[in-house]
Amino acid sequence: MKFNDLALAAPILKALEKQGYTQPTPIQEKAIPILLKGHDLLGVAQTGTGKTAAFGIPILNHLCKNKSNGKGRRKIKALVVTPTRELAIQIAENFTAYSQFTNLRNAVIFGGVKQAQQVKNLRNGVDILIATPGRLLDLMSQGHITFKDLEHVVLDEADQMLDMGFIHDVKKIIAHLPKKRQSLFFSATMPKTIVELSKKMLGKFERVTIKPEQATAEKVEQGIYFVNKGNKSKLLVHLLEERKNESVLVFSRTKHGANKIVKKLEQSGIRSAAIHGNKSQNMRQKALGDFKMGKLNVLVATDIAARGIDIDELSLVINFDLPNVAETYVHRIGRTGRANASGIALSFCMAEERPYLKDIEQLIKQKIPRLENHPFMEDHDAIEEASVKKPVKAGPKKRNYSRNNRSKKRK
Ligand code: AMP
Repeated sequence: MKFNDLALAAPILKALEKQGYTQPTPIQEKAIPILLKGHDLLGVAQTGTGKTAAFGIPILNHLCKNKSNGKGRRKIKALVVTPTRELAIQIAENFTAYSQFTNLRNAVIFGGVKQAQQVKNLRNGVDILIATPGRLLDLMSQGHITFKDLEHVVLDEADQMLDMGFIHDVKKIIAHLPKKRQSLFFSATMPKTIVELSKKMLGKFERVTIKPEQATAEKVEQGIYFVNKGNKSKLLVHLLEERKNESVLVFSRTKHGANKIVKKLEQSGIRSAAIHGNKSQNMRQKALGDFKMGKLNVLVATDIAARGIDIDELSLVINFDLPNVAETYVHRIGRTGRANASGIALSFCMAEERPYLKDIEQLIKQKIPRLENHPFMEDHDAIEEASVKKPVKAGPKKRNYSRNNRSKKRK
């Protein structure tokens, strides 16, 4: 299927062409025709699958073809609610790119910064509002926002909203929306509370599921290093020194851990920055900006801060710690190998993390190759035998992911 087959408005097609999108990703192929018909949608998919365009294109297409209110101030006709500031900004950037040849305008609002500029943008009139829940509710309660003319609502990363404690705010927001609307609900996982919320929010809906293992296993080359806790930093420095010009995202399970990693890297002369919830919004934006521009090659992030970070040409993800929830591994490695690109994800595993590795391999239904070509080798056979009842067949020996020389262009 091609975008041309979807009968989209000419300015949208032109923008997609400019973005270099030739073919819809699987979620776009499934979701766009449903949404163009005006139906509600439940999308079970994670960031990195192209889901922003999957909901953005049909919404923009509809607004572009139905310019009913030419006169007076613009009214908010579409609302996207998303859990983090980084995601809100990225979604707004995508909407701006896809609507660049239309006269549709979007605005983004999120907490952690002064509200004055955001209120000013709203006063100027917007067609599409992208918001995090807390600031959205604040501005609604101050009377800066009305949804009388709203036609589309998207709830993005619903499970993450739940994890971050936003679920009540989200319910309050939904209660203020017109009943007649198109509703879209996206979540990477579907725990019970999320299923209930989706039932409340959606009318008669269609469901589209993109399995995480489809998104990752096929495109991302993965590898595991067995290493002692005390040697993890040394191994990281060793790997980064081999890949001086690549953009590398390093995951830490904790904020404190992320700070410690940055300190160690700096001691070895590797410039890096941490992004996590204890960093101010300005610091996070600066770190992300420097990383995207290539001023910084290494970003160390916690899961919540990194969720949804969208960086073109992110060639390598390193899991300094293995996550204790297997799905998180899938989210993390989804930061590389986005849309139609390929990527590499390397993980460190100390003895205590071996059960996490087992869960991950069960989820992704594959054994991650064991990598032995490093100076800080743990006796992994001993670890495997000690922690697994039935020893599994050893992976390929002496596997080596050589540096790849991707272009340095980043988004
Ligand atoms: P998302 O899941 O929305 O965060 O998208 C992940 C990345 O895929 C973003 O960098 C998009 O710009 C890119 N992308 C989305 N759709 C396509 C497409 N059809 N072809 C190529 N890249 C795409």
